[in-house]
Amino acid sequence: MAAEKAPLHPRRSARTVRWSILAAVLAVITTLGILHQTGGLVKPVGVDALCPFGGLETLGSLLGGGGLIRRIALSSVLLLVAAVVTALVFRRAFCGRICPLGYLQELFGGLGKRMLGRRFTMPTNLDRPARYLKYLVLALVLYFTWRTGELVIRSYDPWVAYNHLTSPELFTENAAAFAVLVAVLIGSLFFDRFYCKYACPMGAFLGLISRFSVFKIRRDEEACIDCGLCDRACPVNVHVSTATTVTSPECIDCGECVAACPAQGALGTRTSSGHTLGPVQAAVFSVSLFAVLVLLASAAGLFEWTVPTLTQSVRESGTAAFDTALIKGSTSLSDVADAAGIAPDVFTRVYGVPESEQDKALKDLKDPYGCSPGEIRAFVVAYRADPTVAETWVPGALHEDGEEAH
Ligand code: SF4
Ligand code: SF4
Repeated sequence: MAAEKAPLHPRRSARTVRWSILAAVLAVITTLGILHQTGGLVKPVGVDALCPFGGLETLGSLLGGGGLIRRIALSSVLLLVAAVVTALVFRRAFCGRICPLGYLQELFGGLGKRMLGRRFTMPTNLDRPARYLKYLVLALVLYFTWRTGELVIRSYDPWVAYNHLTSPELFTENAAAFAVLVAVLIGSLFFDRFYCKYACPMGAFLGLISRFSVFKIRRDEEACIDCGLCDRACPVNVHVSTATTVTSPECIDCGECVAACPAQGALGTRTSSGHTLGPVQAAVFSVSLFAVLVLLASAAGLFEWTVPTLTQSVRESGTAAFDTALIKGSTSLSDVADAAGIAPDVFTRVYGVPESEQDKALKDLKDPYGCSPGEIRAFVVAYRADPTVAETWVPGALHEDGEEAH
């Protein structure tokens, strides 16, 4: 008869829950990113619409009455709200238990530990000032985004690069972001949560909010045996063993210190009045709070998961009124022709694009023929108003902008 397995210790269960959730989020977001790049029957929204930091970047414009900035969707703002509410209850649980970029660093950290046999810590005189870098990044990004109305960090954002790994733009438009991603992953081989500790503006923002959190990691000095295991377990190097309440904005509420603590009741996720959540409860409740808020927004129809297609818009509004904003870099010229009821030879006459090449995406026709999405949008709008405009249209003369590639 096979021996019965001993039940998992609650602390190990909490780790299993945390890693399972992080792995699931990374898998889902990676799949959505690949589907977004490769297209198909259903096209999920892009990385910008699935990142809470985008919600923060657009807040200045939104509050100033300017609406959402380009590439940002309402879903980014809703994710920001969910992350902030979660931070007000469970500190930076978004970082420790949900963020796929955080988990990616942990995966590379595990790989580094196997390869190098140990983890490294930055010398204190370097580590301390470097931690402030992320606040500087946060301030600069928010200021310049507010001034320019553009996502200024996007070209350097490692998460944007990760979501373009299957895109041909990885080594062109996203080359700098890819270089940052490589640097982050190499750094993570040596240092735990390398990007989170030193450069992530979202982590910096949530750290400021988390000071007001209801639950914090609290240590009972009577029960503590001063073993220091919590300090060694902390991936962001917070000194838990000397605090009664962990108030550091660096704490990502991963619960690793609680899982490592051998003394019953010494360390826990507690309110100031002493109400304690078990390690598994803390993991489940914090992620559930975030998930429920997102699901409620989805149920209310506020959260868009897929990009409405040109075909859907034509079906709903007709060729005379479909939404030209849906003409993107990934849209083919033949799809535009079908949607707008424009004969293919019109595009040959105006832009010189042979019919044999009109199945290509606009981003691939931009350089040889000047068919950027913005240009084609402007042409379609003008053509719908007066088809004779095709006889006098000068490509690129009326409209050009930095268009969204996808
Ligand atoms: S600090 Fe940034 S990258 Fe790290 S877990 Fe938090 S949001 Fe994600
Ligand atoms: S791991 Fe627990 S017992 Fe050890 S120092 Fe930290 S709080 Fe105290």
